[in-house]
Amino acid sequence: MTRKLVWGNMDIRYELFQTKRRDMEIRVSADAVKAFVPKRTPLRVADEFVLSRWGEVQEHMAKLEAYRRAHEREHPVHEGAPIMLRGKVYRLHYGETSFTGIHGEVFCVSCRPGEEPRAAVRRALMEYADLCYRERLAVLAPMVGREPGGMRVRAQKSRWGSCSSRGDLSLNYKIVMAPPQVMDYILIHELCHLYEMNHSQRFWARLKRHMPDYEEWKKWLQTNGGMLGV
Ligand SMILES: [Zn+2]
Repeated sequence: MTRKLVWGNMDIRYELFQTKRRDMEIRVSADAVKAFVPKRTPLRVADEFVLSRWGEVQEHMAKLEAYRRAHEREHPVHEGAPIMLRGKVYRLHYGETSFTGIHGEVFCVSCRPGEEPRAAVRRALMEYADLCYRERLAVLAPMVGREPGGMRVRAQKSRWGSCSSRGDLSLNYKIVMAPPQVMDYILIHELCHLYEMNHSQRFWARLKRHMPDYEEWKKWLQTNGGMLGV
């Protein structure tokens, strides 16, 4: 549930989760503060806990915001700026036509009237990712032996992919920027979840059968994942 409090002259808003646990914890992301407390913790106690930590929470959020700004500085979106697709560098070009995609060394982006360039690039990347993932899934799904129910490209902050209990895949657009092997790793990973909805030894063994060097690309993502996206 959402809780609203006042801290000095500031309005505070946080999400409260009452779960099976013994201690209280706060998790901060760029756009949300979440507090996890044991079941049946009085609301007043949870609120006091959050308030007692609010100084730290603010510092943490300021750091995340600074990181976001630095990321945007390092990923310029002006005409001619470099952009990585499938591990190769292209140049951004804002086209007049509705064509979105690669043309020679150029990644063409159509900008809608009034649209922010960064939003336009992100939208173009999502369209391009959708195309690439569908093309690759057509090869990889028969290899793994299961067809997903559906596939959706999303702009998640910190998840590369997920597989729902109904067998629908959600895939992060940022993966289309990484080397093709990383894309294969994520696609095969999610396809293997159509057999095993967990990260058991059986799951990893199945994944390894289809991609013997997956650990290398998993590690690539852990090291370099932060620089993907725009
Ligand atoms: Zn997984």
